[in-house]
Amino acid sequence: MKAALAAIVGADNVLDAAPDLAPYREDYCEADPVDPSLVVLATKTEEVQAIVRLCAERQTPITPRVAGSNVGGLALPAPGGLVLDLTRMNRIVSVDEADMYAVIEPGVTQADLKRHLVEHDIPLTFGFSLAPPDTSVLANCLLGGLTNRSLKYGDQSQWVSGLEVVLSDGSLVRTGSWALSDSAFGLVPFPDVSGLFLGWQATTGITTRMAFQLWPRHPLNKRLFVLTYSAHGTFEAVRRLCRTELCDDIGGLSWPSAKMMMGVKHPYPEPASGEPTFFLYVDLTAGSEAEMSLKERTLEQTLADVRHLGERIEEPLDVATLLRVNPALGAFAEFPVELEFLTNHGGGGLTWIGTYGPLSRFEDGIAAGTEIMVRHGFPPLIVTRPMRGGHYGVLRFVAIFDKKDAAEIERVKKLNLELLEMVTAKGFVMYKTPPWAWEKLRGRIDPGLLALMERTKRMLDPLGIMNPGKLGY
Ligand SMILES: Cc1cc2nc3c(=O)[nH]c(=O)nc-3n(C[C@H](O)[C@H](O)[C@H](O)COP(=O)(O)OP(=O)(O)OC[C@H]3O[C@@H](n4cnc5c(N)ncnc54)[C@H](O)[C@@H]3O)c2cc1C
Repeated sequence: MKAALAAIVGADNVLDAAPDLAPYREDYCEADPVDPSLVVLATKTEEVQAIVRLCAERQTPITPRVAGSNVGGLALPAPGGLVLDLTRMNRIVSVDEADMYAVIEPGVTQADLKRHLVEHDIPLTFGFSLAPPDTSVLANCLLGGLTNRSLKYGDQSQWVSGLEVVLSDGSLVRTGSWALSDSAFGLVPFPDVSGLFLGWQATTGITTRMAFQLWPRHPLNKRLFVLTYSAHGTFEAVRRLCRTELCDDIGGLSWPSAKMMMGVKHPYPEPASGEPTFFLYVDLTAGSEAEMSLKERTLEQTLADVRHLGERIEEPLDVATLLRVNPALGAFAEFPVELEFLTNHGGGGLTWIGTYGPLSRFEDGIAAGTEIMVRHGFPPLIVTRPMRGGHYGVLRFVAIFDKKDAAEIERVKKLNLELLEMVTAKGFVMYKTPPWAWEKLRGRIDPGLLALMERTKRMLDPLGIMNPGKLGY
């Protein structure tokens, strides 16, 4: 296998020494490590096609990976399988400024794309997740991830306007307008088969190029911070702000998360007297001072309306004031961001139950999740965001842990299981679903959907070589 791969990509791009394989055997989360047999680095689509053909011939499982920071074990190989490292396929193929889309390869990171747009003075932008700057934009679109433009435009899979995918026999397919036109403007009007690859965790194909929509970069941008003192006050304000349609983003972090960002190792689970409950960051953009001022006034009025209901909510603070209060909160001044308190805390472990669900049930989910986290001995680290105009939202319970401590890993597994049961019972759906969670949910998912997925998987991957072990396959 090694020689055959070397013939495709060159010997230097095939790794089999244990120290070279080590970074690919795990990710941040509590999933058990899995050793790949080999790692192969591709630089172009034709190489990916040839590698997949070879894997099909030899019936070798193949798992694509970029930064491996999905926090669910989704880029861990099957035992004996091969990891296809796509970090070197990092071309920004084109940016169509007039029609507001970019064509990118899998290895293009959040930092790369931002740099490209700024350096070329292109007045367009995209959404940033809170993931490290080196994570793949394409992978997060395939996984339906969330960003600071998701309130306005939805999860990132909704921004995809065309895919180029290598199928399990090595053949290539293009979806969207791209199938006919030289412009990848949208997924209409042919039957849209992009859904065969979005949300499938690489079990149906390997995407080598993606066209996706960019959005206007407004001359005026403001991020304002609002401290709130109850879950109900927080989300009543969030729901009302969604209906003003004036905010680009309304991210929310529980106060223990903010305290951890400020360097407190084990924040007290209940707010000490006088401490806030949540920390909202509200993004406003505008084309003129008058527009910005209207948006700020509407924000202030909406918060005042919620105060009249008896809720305590502070006046919005700008970044400069926040930095004076505590420079550590400056991580939120500019995206993308490296949230060191999550990724570099010494123990190495990061995990979560991240869900999409109805905004109307957030207070309920937060009360139940806080009780579970505190009972298991974890600070209630909670991340929230309304999505797509407020039609749904993100509710994510996050835990950090020591990967070298077997007892703590067991504790984290129990925590996640209980959180999964709770959120599912309340109607939230876990995204980027890890294999263990899929197994737990399987009995409750509509059997018609499961049967259709099964048939689709068999059609697209009859040999079962595409990222086995994910989504129950
Ligand atoms: C601190 C932190 C904060 C985070 N915050 C957010 C957040 O705010 N929002 C959010 O959405 N996510 C967040 N994430 C999650 C994570 O960064 C994303 O899931 C990201 O998309 C993963 O990108 P990656 O490059 O690490 O992909 P990987 O982990 O390498 O891959 C992810 C999945 O995509 C598959 N894949 C990779 N390339 C391809 C391809 N070319 N074709 C088909 N399948 C492919 C892999 O096999 C795997 O199943 C966060 C992660 C961390 C560590």
